[in-house]
Amino acid sequence: MVSTFPTPHSVDLSQIRLAIRALQPQLVEWRRHLHQRPELGFQEQLTAEFVAQKLQEWGIEHKTGIAKTGIVATIKSDRPGPVLAIRADMDALPIQEENMVPYRSQHDGIMHACGHDGHTAIALGVAYYLAHHRQDFAGTVKIIFQPAEEGPGGAKPMIEEGVLKNPDVEAIIGLHLWNNLPLGTVGVRSGALMAAVESFHCTIFGKGGHGAMPHQTVDSIVVSAQIVTALQTIVARNVDPIDSAVVTVGKLHAGTANNVIADTARMIGTVRYFNPKLEGYFGKRIEQIISGICHSHGASYELDYLQLYPPVINETNIAELVRSVASDVVETPAGIVPECQTMGGEDMSFFLQEVPGCYFFLGSANPSKNLAYPHHHPQFDFDEAALGMGAEIFVRCVEKFCR
Ligand SMILES: [Zn+2]
Ligand SMILES: [Zn+2]
Repeated sequence: MVSTFPTPHSVDLSQIRLAIRALQPQLVEWRRHLHQRPELGFQEQLTAEFVAQKLQEWGIEHKTGIAKTGIVATIKSDRPGPVLAIRADMDALPIQEENMVPYRSQHDGIMHACGHDGHTAIALGVAYYLAHHRQDFAGTVKIIFQPAEEGPGGAKPMIEEGVLKNPDVEAIIGLHLWNNLPLGTVGVRSGALMAAVESFHCTIFGKGGHGAMPHQTVDSIVVSAQIVTALQTIVARNVDPIDSAVVTVGKLHAGTANNVIADTARMIGTVRYFNPKLEGYFGKRIEQIISGICHSHGASYELDYLQLYPPVINETNIAELVRSVASDVVETPAGIVPECQTMGGEDMSFFLQEVPGCYFFLGSANPSKNLAYPHHHPQFDFDEAALGMGAEIFVRCVEKFCR
């Protein structure tokens, strides 16, 4: 891969490290500013204002209001060359923060519990660096500040509004701070990294009645119990065992009293898989099972099935670019973790369906500082030393790709 992405002799990589290290206090300051002002998906007004104000200050061309609150910054070098995009998500979660840090959330019931405040700060750091080093790369870098990753998803509407066009993006990279990995490591691999996310809502209509007279009823609880059990056979007996998949019923509600047979039952669940060939399969198979069991018991049903995010699939060459750059940054081969797949989902996948790219995990846990709570936990926090590492990886990818 060295021949595809030669190390530029014109750029001294140690200079990048020194410049990013000098930026570390700002990265922390920006991250903490954003952490105190978390906003839910498509409501990232303060966040977008903060980002736009910084871009303005640094003389970076940018467009706001894309997919409501999204922003695209375009940083051109003086020389023609490739177009690389870097994506950062900006939204927070409906969680009450339990950390007592000075920079804790000031917005009641909302918290940056996934690290997107860090992603936005890293992307700002990269924008700042590149705007002041336009002579060190060729072509154009687009930085995409995306709303609503946690749902309903800002990537797709941003693509529909043309963020990958004019100039046309040739490759895209993005990262997630990752408390499942220790600080100083990077999870990167080619192929599937994260799973497709689908969901279903189903209502079973039976016929209610007296708990002592079941022969006069159609028991929606018995029907749904059979459905829940039978759904497990999709992964166990229908999907190729080589392919990983999950079918989870996360909620099942029915009934009111011990001596009443429930008229209706409601269940909701989630489906995950890596193999893009399975797209469309689960919805059909789940409906077959529900329909067959309902039919055999004289019940009926309503099913709402949603395909939310496709799987996150990394392209081999760009994954190799990130891996080689990251191994320079972490400075130890053990710091690169290819066994980092997760059945979690991400709408970065929509960008990766359009252009080749790589999404990777940046280790951010530090148990010695009590910074190891999982993502989406009310005490989630990460080691801010990861911010500089993330910025350095992105900048070095630019210097290697944009030649
Ligand atoms: Zn999250
Ligand atoms: Zn996240």
